[in-house]
Amino acid sequence: MIDATDDWALVTGGSRGIGRAVALAAANHPLHVVINYRSNEDRAREVVEAIRTAGGSAEATAFDVADQQACAQAAETLLERLGTPYAIINNAGILKDGLMVWMTPEDWTRVVSTNLDSFYNVTQPFLKSMLGRRRGRIVNMTSTAGQVGNAGQVNYSASKSGLIGATLALAKEVAKRHITVNAVAPGFIETDMTAELPEATLRKAIPAGRFGKAQEVAAVVAFLLSEESSYVTGQVIGVNGGLA
Ligand code: NAP
Repeated sequence: MIDATDDWALVTGGSRGIGRAVALAAANHPLHVVINYRSNEDRAREVVEAIRTAGGSAEATAFDVADQQACAQAAETLLERLGTPYAIINNAGILKDGLMVWMTPEDWTRVVSTNLDSFYNVTQPFLKSMLGRRRGRIVNMTSTAGQVGNAGQVNYSASKSGLIGATLALAKEVAKRHITVNAVAPGFIETDMTAELPEATLRKAIPAGRFGKAQEVAAVVAFLLSEESSYVTGQVIGVNGGLA
């Protein structure tokens, strides 16, 4: 039930890390926030509670962004219940790192389908209604890896580069209807995804000398959701401490 505003945003992978911070920022917009997750119901519920405690409006919904049918079904239900979304933030993503020489077909497919096919699966079912409303924001969470390529991440880098190409192309298709499409490209950000990385070694290569915080990425997304960003589209905005 929308109780704070008529406008709403979908944040995929909103149960943890960057998505959680983005969900909190979107709720401040203020937007009703639909928090998508795959399996971590407790964490998704915690984000909903945090938003409600702060006076915002949110709900959580589980579906696998790599599953085209599940996304189409979720979109149909959401469109019926909440109407046209103001914003879609395609944030859900995974890693399955390893050198290409040892990479299994499953590790290639799972990463590309979760990080890139998801952009189509989640966005396409909402597009017609967003075009009709002549207003909206699409933000895609890519990565420095998609801009420069990382050894051991051929699958991940390919998925994130693909997402950049999709961002640039869709921005040109929908700009006349006042919908902006941008990508945010974080470097190393402190989340579960980077928890196992040797931070002390890696931060020597980061000009800012530290990993970033999820809130620092969410602040850029918040700008892209704002009215002030209306003339910013088809851009890839790095949040990387100067890394790339
Ligand atoms: P994270 O802490 O691992 O959280 C991943 C989120 O994505 C979780 O909410 C997870 O849901 C969700 N998710 C994963 N697979 C999904 C699926 N198939 N369907 C629906 N939801 C799914 O990741 P993060 O570090 O916040 O990263 C968020 C995004 O930023 C990703 O696209 C990542 O590639 C990108 N990024 C991260 C960094 C970094 O340094 N952390 C750098 C560059 C780019 P559950 O909780 O249910 O598992």
